Amino acid sequence: MIIVCPKCMAKNRVDTAQLVKEPLCGRCQNVLIPKNSIELNEQNFSTFIQHSDLPVVIDLWADWCGPCKAMAPHFEHVASQYTNVIFAKINTEENPKLSQAFNIRSIPTLVIMNKTTELTRVSGALKATELKQWIDQNLIKL
Ligand SMILES: [Zn+2]
Repeated sequence: MIIVCPKCMAKNRVDTAQLVKEPLCGRCQNVLIPKNSIELNEQNFSTFIQHSDLPVVIDLWADWCGPCKAMAPHFEHVASQYTNVIFAKINTEENPKLSQAFNIRSIPTLVIMNKTTELTRVSGALKATELKQWIDQNLIKL
């Protein structure tokens, strides 16, 4: 499968069996599936989402949003538990075009993308256990 390096955006071909072994980017040696969330923005979003063969859980948030901040550690905690899912954050304030493209009406909004297809979304902050449950329920459909 192809995994896009979250740092340099190089497309890396990775054997599925290698996912649990912390594969590194062939170009920049960065970890391909970081234990923490990555940041997507208007510059890197399309490249990343189009080419990544792993599903991506996206947290659309903003700096002024209390519930977003409350959820952040839960999001990072859950991110550290998956080797077959990419966790990404999009700052809606800094990326108004993406916010518009996602038709975001309230934040936080969580979206699961499989390539360019939106699998599902949920609005409002989730705790770690709820978030994990929501992800597992939806990934089963893939
Ligand atoms: Zn790289």
